[in-house]
Amino acid sequence: MYYVGAHVSTSKGYLAAAERVHAMGGNAFQFFPKNPRTLIPKKSINEQDAKACAAYCKENEIVSITHAPYPLNLAVGPENSAIMLESMLNALMISDACGAMGLVVHFGNYHGEDRLQGYHNRIQLLNQATSLWSGNTLILIENQAGEGHGEGSTFEEMTTIRNLCQEPEKIGFCLDTCHAYASGLWKGFDWEEVALKGQAVGYFDHLKAVHLNESKFAAGEKRDRHAPIGYGKIGETHLKSMLQSPFLQNIPIVLETPATDYATHPQQLNDVKRLLLES
Ligand SMILES: [Zn+2]
Repeated sequence: MYYVGAHVSTSKGYLAAAERVHAMGGNAFQFFPKNPRTLIPKKSINEQDAKACAAYCKENEIVSITHAPYPLNLAVGPENSAIMLESMLNALMISDACGAMGLVVHFGNYHGEDRLQGYHNRIQLLNQATSLWSGNTLILIENQAGEGHGEGSTFEEMTTIRNLCQEPEKIGFCLDTCHAYASGLWKGFDWEEVALKGQAVGYFDHLKAVHLNESKFAAGEKRDRHAPIGYGKIGETHLKSMLQSPFLQNIPIVLETPATDYATHPQQLNDVKRLLLES
C-alpha cells in the first residue's frame, strides 16, 4: 500500500487540510501544527477541529505527519534547550490530537567549536522530550542537505543518535530526497548502493516518512532548493528507482515541492503514482 500526498496549509483548519489532500487524490499529508516561524507554543487549539481531522483521516485511510517550527534546533546547548523542549512538546501534543503519526524535526546544526557537544545536546534534548511524552506521535528526525558543517547528512548519524537515546522506540526517521541528493548521500544513479548502506546500519527499519522533493541543484552541491517533480536534477528514472524500493511501502510520501501552474500538486501526485507503479 502506498500513501502519497503533499504538505498542505491549515489556514482553514486541520480538518480542511485533510479534506484538501483527499480532494487532490492523496492519502497522506503534512502540515504545520502551529506557526512554523516561532518557537512560542500555541496556547490553545480548536479541539473539535483536531478531533474531526483525526476521525476523517481514520475513516478515509489517510496518514498524516507534521513539521516542527523552523527555529527548532536539537543541537543547541542547555542554555536554549528549555524553549526547544517546550516547543517540541507543544507540537507533539497538537499533532497527536490531529491523529498525526509523526512530528518531523530537523537534525539541527551546532554552532559552537566542539561539534561532538552538538551530538550530546541532541541526545539530551531527545531524551528530555521522550521522557515527558507518552502520546502516539513519534519524533521523526530529518536528514539535512549538508550546509554548514554537513551535520545530519548521513544514515550513520541518524541511527547512532537514535540508538544512543533512552527511548528509541519513540523516535524514527524522515528521509528528505532533495536533502539526500544535495548532500551527496544519494547521487541519483546509485540508489541501490544507498539502500544497501541504509539497510546495513538499520536506517530503513525506522524510516517512517519521506519528503519527496526534486532538487534545483546538482548532487553534492549542498544547496537545499526543492523543485517540482518533473522539473529537477534528480530526474524520473532515478526517482523511480528510489520510489519503488520496498522501504517506501506503507509510510507517508509527502511532496514539499513548489506548486506552479505548469506543475500543480495534483499533477505532481499523478506523476508520483505513475512512477510508483510503472515497470
Ligand atoms: Zn523536508
